[in-house]
Formats: sequence, C-alpha cells, structure tokens
Amino acid sequence: MSNQLSDRINSVTPSATLEMAAKARELRASGKDIIGLSLGEPDFKVPDYIREAAIQAVNDGYNSYTPVDGYGELKEAVITKFKRDNGLDYEASQIVVSTGAKQALYNVAQVCLNKGDEVILPCPYWVSYSDIVKLADGVPVEVPTSIETDFKMTAEQLETAITPKTKMLWYSSPCNPSGSIYSEKELRALADVLQKHTQIIVVSDEIYEHINYGVTSHASMAAFDDMYDRTVTVNGVAKAFAMTGWRIGFIGGPTYIARACNKLQGQVTSGANCIAQRAVITALLESPDRVRYMVDEFKERRKLILGLLNEIDGFQCNEPEGAFYVFPDVSAYFGKTLNGAKINNASDFAMYILEHANVATVTGDAFGNPKCIRISYAASQEEITEAVSRIKSVL
Ligand SMILES: *Cc1c(COP(=O)(O)O)cnc(C)c1O
Repeated sequence: MSNQLSDRINSVTPSATLEMAAKARELRASGKDIIGLSLGEPDFKVPDYIREAAIQAVNDGYNSYTPVDGYGELKEAVITKFKRDNGLDYEASQIVVSTGAKQALYNVAQVCLNKGDEVILPCPYWVSYSDIVKLADGVPVEVPTSIETDFKMTAEQLETAITPKTKMLWYSSPCNPSGSIYSEKELRALADVLQKHTQIIVVSDEIYEHINYGVTSHASMAAFDDMYDRTVTVNGVAKAFAMTGWRIGFIGGPTYIARACNKLQGQVTSGANCIAQRAVITALLESPDRVRYMVDEFKERRKLILGLLNEIDGFQCNEPEGAFYVFPDVSAYFGKTLNGAKINNASDFAMYILEHANVATVTGDAFGNPKCIRISYAASQEEITEAVSRIKSVL
C-alpha cells in the first residue's frame, strides 16, 4: 500500500537532536567509541529529596488519574515558584501542568493559532518550535540574529518582522541553543514594540531560568504590567532538576488560554504522571539553592570547553550566559575539503565531526541558524576534554 499518511505528519521534520542521538547510539552499537554532546540533558542524578518524595508517593498509594491540569497542591507549588522566583502573581485557574514543557508549548500553539497565523521565532530557536507551530497550521517567521548581537533579536528586528498576520512571538531565555539571556532592559525594548501590536501573544520559555552564570539576571516578560495579560510563561523541571524523563512542565498565563489548554489536554493525554507530579511539588517548594551545585559544575565545564574551543582555528564562540550549550559559528570551514569530505554547511560539518572524530553534536540548521553547530557541555570534564581534542585533531 502506498503512503497513506496525512500531509500534516509528512510536513514535520524529525527532531534533529533526537535523530543525532539515535545515530550516535547506532554507531556505538556497531562498536564505535562515540562521545555524545548532542542531547540537552543534564548528566546528574535526581536530587535525593526529590527521589524520596516520589518513593513516598508510590507508598502512599498515588495511582489514580489526576485532575487534567495537575494536582491542586502542585498548582499551588507552581504559584509559589512563580511568585518567589519571578515576581509573578497567578491564580490556580491560570496554571496548567503538562507532560513536559514540550506538551505545554504544543498545547499553547494548538489553542492560539489559526491557519496562516504567523509566529515570530528569533533564530536560533529551540529545535521543536517551528514544527510545533506548523502542526498548529501556523507559519514560523524566522528572524536571523548573529554572534555580533549575542544571538539576540533587537527591537528594530522585531518591528520589521511584524505583519498584520503576526499572532505570536516565541523565544527562550536563557536560550537553547545559544545560551543568551535577554536582560530586563532588552525585554522592555521588545515589549515597547509590542505595545503597538496588541494582537500578539508572547510565549516566554524559561526552562533554563536557574541555569544562569550570573552575568545577566533572569527576567520574565510577564513581569511587565502591560505584558502580563498576553504572555504565557513556560517552565518545567527537566533541566534545573535533572528530571528530563519525569516529564513535568507547566504554564502560567491568561485564564482563557490556560482553560483552553486544559480542555485540549483533557482529550489528548489527561493529567501528567501522578508520581512525577507529587515529586515536583517537593522540587518546586524547596529552595532553588539546593540544586545550585549543578550550576556550579556547569560553570566549570563552560570555562573548560570555551577555553579549548577557542584554541581551534575557525571556531567563533559567544560566551553563553546560561543553559549548557555552546553554539560556535563554524562557517569558516564551509567550502573546504577535509580528509576527502566536502564541508558545504553546518550539517556536513556536524556529520564530519561525528564520522571522523566520533563526537556527536547538532547542526545549527535545526535551530534556524545554518552557520553554527550546537555542542552540549552536559558531560563530564574528561569527556569534554577528550571530545574537543578529537575535534581539533580532525580539523
Ligand atoms: C528541553 C527544553 C524544553 C522541553 O522540556 P521538557 O519538559 O523536557 O518537555 C522546552 N524548551 C526548551 C528551550 C528546552 O531546552
């Protein structure tokens, strides 16, 4: 039988980060010694006090369906977190807990976008944004940025990108993949532009909020009074608490959007996993200082990897202020032939590094930037040192 799949799924690009991880696994299975720096996943254990809470939940008999938008106690913990860390006031009706921040983002796209609505994505953007937008029949509008502005979109660029069809602006800060952080002043400049275009809803993805190396303080778009009513703040526990597989994310936002997400989720997945939800109550109510040790270690690794990469001719790195990635511009290699392999673009470059140096990274194309590659430093210092030394030797 011929391919009977929908146009919808045929138009989706597979997640490049997951694909690279699969390719690395395949090579590893065939006996190659691959160092994986492609996935955005902390390599720490879940902190003891959070694991205890999960075990407690199992033993206490939590096993039923939860409310679709999350346990009341968890929503209260989310409210406490938003107030404590971000100065944001939400009520329970404005909170929805989902199966990861990814589902939270998917819900928001599905409930806000009509066919043809444009969504502004400053590049580089998180790998799934453009496909999540396309799955909701929206049109991603990429705004290219470069290393000269630390990969941040300026107010002028935002103004130029807006059309009568613009419905949303999505960004992450700290940014995956660039590690850039929008200061309060920079966000204010974007908000000033948005004052002239009141139909635009903002999605502020703050999942790396706590992974911040102390140069620029975290700021939330919704903290501006004039943006609160049209900003959806997305966050979760995957990155800061090393809980990627536990699948809990959440939003705070306008009640009508939150209720619509609740309605959608009720027909798709129902409430998120009950044991994970119980554990996340503890994760959020405890002080974020308790996971600071991971950030301190990431900071050491950042210093290490930047130092090593800057010794390689042709790598141009910005200094990431948050998250755990470097996003070097490698366009100096385009057009060259190395060990018989022609490097025309970032995908060729990432593939060359994988096949010749046995190091998995991700092409910048996946994030809307064709000049860069993303290297995760959520790996041990030994692995980082070995990986960069291998990369250097094949270049
Ligand atoms: C990892 C990540 C997500 C997804 O988080 P989950 O809770 O694992 O679904 C969303 N946004 C960004 C920017 C991320 O890096």
